[in-house]
Amino acid sequence: MKNNAPRGLYIHVPFCKKKCPYCDFYSLPFNQSKAEEYKNAVIRNLSRYENERFDTVYVGGGTPALIAEYIGEILSRANITENAEITAECNPDTLSADTLRILKQSGVNRLSFGVQSLCAEELSALGRTHTARTAADAVLQAEKAGFENISADIMLAVPNQTRETLAQTLTALCGLPITHVSAYLLKIEENTVFGRRYDEISAKLPDEDAQGALYLTAVELLEKHGFRQYEISNFAKAGYESRHNLKYWHAEEYVGIGPSAHSYYNGRRFFVPKSLEKFISDEFQTEQTLETSPDREEERVMLGLRLTDGIALTSEIQQRLQYIPREYYKISDGKLSLTPKGFLVSNEIIAVLLN
Ligand code: SF4
Repeated sequence: MKNNAPRGLYIHVPFCKKKCPYCDFYSLPFNQSKAEEYKNAVIRNLSRYENERFDTVYVGGGTPALIAEYIGEILSRANITENAEITAECNPDTLSADTLRILKQSGVNRLSFGVQSLCAEELSALGRTHTARTAADAVLQAEKAGFENISADIMLAVPNQTRETLAQTLTALCGLPITHVSAYLLKIEENTVFGRRYDEISAKLPDEDAQGALYLTAVELLEKHGFRQYEISNFAKAGYESRHNLKYWHAEEYVGIGPSAHSYYNGRRFFVPKSLEKFISDEFQTEQTLETSPDREEERVMLGLRLTDGIALTSEIQQRLQYIPREYYKISDGKLSLTPKGFLVSNEIIAVLLN
């Protein structure tokens, strides 16, 4: 990429009200004095990038709304271009009208809500503290506060989910004023409450075939409601694709600030250790180089095939396609992309293409 091109900026806010049992993102219980020290550390780190321009900002976590009062100050220390996309992740139950107003005044112009499901049993199985009603109200309140670019995360293959309950969630969700949906399959991560109760939880999970059926149901229903699939797990109304996340998949550069944040900057991929204490006490965050960076061709295939736009077809890739069932991919205008069925087995396909 050109060195003067604007980058993306990711800020990891490591606080949550309560830890969800399936979540392995780095977050700790909220603490006001730590939050202030964290904010000062973010600002110190941003000072290293004063010559850098950012045209997308993603404040994620954790639960950024818990530090809404600091977000304006943080953003004012970054060199953000006009018309930048500035997203804050939100938990439906930590949002008051006041918080929404503060976020709006801070310059945030896109919200991403962790809705996960609009079915009471599924929300309770996921240990979420909000109800379907709270989630819907939060989105409506956000619209009232002037946000017109709103994304919702939902989770697929949660305990006891069926195609019917998923369809209910998606139909209700698509009736809300949202522009974007991310739909992720639940993964049981080792270092979580679900991971420690693996046997009990996995007995309630849909099996692999049912998971595939749930994913395909989501793709079909979302497309029917005008959300075009543009990435393996992401769907958007026309023109509302996440500009920040597209930078990741296009292998463009971004700076990550905060414990556990990853960066791709000046050709190097690195991450910050998962320690709030260290992040606060270090003058500048410690950055460890990722040991297993893929080479450029691997990266082009691995990231590009996540997108429905796909990748340019080379003769090597064309030759390996003979090993892949035809229903898993499409070729159009010299580009290769995966079908929704192909996305379900994308790791296996990529392994064959890169072999
Ligand atoms: S899922 Fe979201 S709200 Fe729950 S612990 Fe993880 S980051 Fe926090």
